[in-house]
Amino acid sequence: KANRKFHPDDTVVEIDGQRIGNGYFGVIAGPCSVEGEEQIISIAQRAKAAGANFLRGGAFKPRTSPYSFQGLELEGLRLLKLAKEATGLPIVTELMSTKFVDAFEADVDMIQIGARNMQNFDLLKEVGKTKTPVLLKRGLSATYDEWLMSAEYIMSEGNENVILCERGIRTFETETRNTLDIQAVPVIQKLSHLPIVIDPSHAGGSAYLVPSMSKSAVMSGANGLMVEIHHDPENAWSDGQQCLNPNEFDELMAVVKQLIAIEGKQ
Ligand code: PEP
Ligand code: MN
Repeated sequence: KANRKFHPDDTVVEIDGQRIGNGYFGVIAGPCSVEGEEQIISIAQRAKAAGANFLRGGAFKPRTSPYSFQGLELEGLRLLKLAKEATGLPIVTELMSTKFVDAFEADVDMIQIGARNMQNFDLLKEVGKTKTPVLLKRGLSATYDEWLMSAEYIMSEGNENVILCERGIRTFETETRNTLDIQAVPVIQKLSHLPIVIDPSHAGGSAYLVPSMSKSAVMSGANGLMVEIHHDPENAWSDGQQCLNPNEFDELMAVVKQLIAIEGKQ
């Protein structure tokens, strides 16, 4: 179902009235983690003012260490909904367990499947039984085929609203957190009709890499961006080193909007 051979036209996914795919470019912005009401609402307002189309924010966090902040969980979902009420931005947040599929189906506009769960086939099948659009991140060491097969798990259950997200892969390089595989855009577009967005934040792991990689993403023909932003990156509860502050995000969006127009997208 994900294969271009059987579906020649590009897919456009509709997410609560917003579109991503083909001529529609989507910008998803927000903090790594939802930290509190004021935090998420103020960041959402800045994201919206800069021109983002979606608000992201982790409520359930897949942290490397069990002693790191694990997310506000269901309280985080409630705060995301408040931020949506305040700004109108649809919400994108990560689901880690089949236990919470119903809660996500009720409250979330796009369900994110994180890199670490890309091959959690039970989770993929359960989100496949919903109608909610799914943002499927590429696994840390997943090949294109493995990634597309994971999309297939979701689609084969009936949910064809899948957007792929390249977020950097593990390589021998240690200077950057991961290596952004920008080739994923043309390769995936050759193999599949599904939209693909780029997450330069988790790819590089440093804020200074985000503007250049975002510009590369637009010019590569990607269908969108996912960018981590925070009002106070130095004190963020997770991934602060890779977050842009709202002013930096304003500057980036001014350029990105011009490039989107050059690419003939909206
Ligand atoms: C995230 O988006 O905050 C995240 C944990 O991403 P990934 O699954 O790509 O590491
Ligand atoms: Mn993060």
